[in-house]
Amino acid sequence: MSDKDLTTIDEEKSIPEELNIQADSEDNQEDEYEKICFLCHRPESVTGKMIDLPNNITVCPDCMQKSFDAMTNGSIDYNRLMNIPGVQFLNLSDLPSMAPPKAQKIKKKKAKAKEYPTLDIKNIPAPHKIKGQLDEFVVGQEYAKKAMSVAVYNHYKRVATGTMDDIEIEKSNMLMIGPTGSGKTYLVKTLAKLLDVPLAITDATSLTEAGYIGDDIESVVSKLLAAADNDVEKAERGIIFIDEIDKIAKKRNSSQRDVSGESVQQGLLKLLEGSEVEVPVGANSKNAMVPLTTVNTKNILFICGGAFPDLEEIIKERLANKTSMGFNSELKDRYEKDQDILAKVTVEDLRNFGMIPEFIGRLPIIFTLKGLDKEMFIQILTEPKNAILKQYQKLLALDEVRLEFDAGALEAIAEKAMKKETGARALRAIIEEFMLDIMYEIPKDDSIGEVIITRDYIEGTGGPVIHLRGQEVAF
Ligand code: ADP
Repeated sequence: MSDKDLTTIDEEKSIPEELNIQADSEDNQEDEYEKICFLCHRPESVTGKMIDLPNNITVCPDCMQKSFDAMTNGSIDYNRLMNIPGVQFLNLSDLPSMAPPKAQKIKKKKAKAKEYPTLDIKNIPAPHKIKGQLDEFVVGQEYAKKAMSVAVYNHYKRVATGTMDDIEIEKSNMLMIGPTGSGKTYLVKTLAKLLDVPLAITDATSLTEAGYIGDDIESVVSKLLAAADNDVEKAERGIIFIDEIDKIAKKRNSSQRDVSGESVQQGLLKLLEGSEVEVPVGANSKNAMVPLTTVNTKNILFICGGAFPDLEEIIKERLANKTSMGFNSELKDRYEKDQDILAKVTVEDLRNFGMIPEFIGRLPIIFTLKGLDKEMFIQILTEPKNAILKQYQKLLALDEVRLEFDAGALEAIAEKAMKKETGARALRAIIEEFMLDIMYEIPKDDSIGEVIITRDYIEGTGGPVIHLRGQEVAF
């Protein structure tokens, strides 16, 4: 052995420490990436553990299985086989000359920072604490928040403990009745965020029986699975919100039998109660290429919501019939004027509306939300943790400009929103309309230190009050 050879060996021996460091950092990089299947291009987080083949090729277990199945069935499609690396009679040494896989790894998604303080569903806090958290985001609707907190508390306690001895605790599926824009969806979204559970929101009108055009009923579970990043266990603790549930009522006063709505209600029964559903992973329709997984809906919390127009009439009719024995028109009048009539809803009224008894039976918690009044609109604008006005104030504060709304302005915005009859949804549209000008004009002029929005400005009869820097008036 020559001297030169010896030094090379020595050098190699002295390297390991550095190499270790390098290897470490490579390992760290590895952590950020996940493998993707050479054939179906799905990532490892979806397919399960990849099988490593030579030449840095990875194939998912499903595709591997499919290739073996194709071979053992005797129905070998040579075109397909050519695409499967690692199959015995494919000469692996040829692979580099075949188009090499460009990206066999994709970057893993980083976990998002949490914007909501989460409640631990395994050790679910008492209902008043859940309501306390909801209060920070949702204005008014006291009864709905209370009913929901208790239902959620019972539900997750049931989930955490499993069913206790012989007394099986009923599922706490809910039915929310309230006018459009009163915060039904918002309540559910807030709750799911607080609990940190996956949430799927579906419109009942898009659901059809399997085999018809539209989403079949089980697609709601697929959606939830997608919201849970395909983690079945997580999905099984999630929430499914089905909006516009009143649209699948049987038609009243119709001589024809209305099958569509009724059959969707029928189709939902099993899901609401708890059953095993086969759903596609990573897609929303079942087809031969998509692997299926089984999700049990036993612990999934179903919340249905709807505006139920005309339900008030049904309730009034019932109440009036009961009391009109002696033509008590005074009482009838009282019900006519009762603002809170919806809260008097009974299962019987819902049946008269066109919901089938079995369906209502599986939604044991029924509560109503109130239509929003002017006072609530103003509160929605200013009070919640992420209130719209607070968001704009924060935006302008970044330009070191103070933004204020005087009392008249808040009232004027609320009055405009009331006229639109779309609930709180109207607020954002109204505010965006005039804030566009403010957000456009203010940054032009560095000397502006404060803007006060007034009723006149909202009503288009005047401009905002502007104070230059150094002249700000304390509020
Ligand atoms: P719907 O009852 O039709 O489902 P949403 O929940 O979608 O109405 O309400 C629309 C928007 O109005 C929500 O995104 C939310 O910002 C706001 N909103 C409605 N009700 C309230 C409320 N009680 N408190 C705070 N914000 C609300």
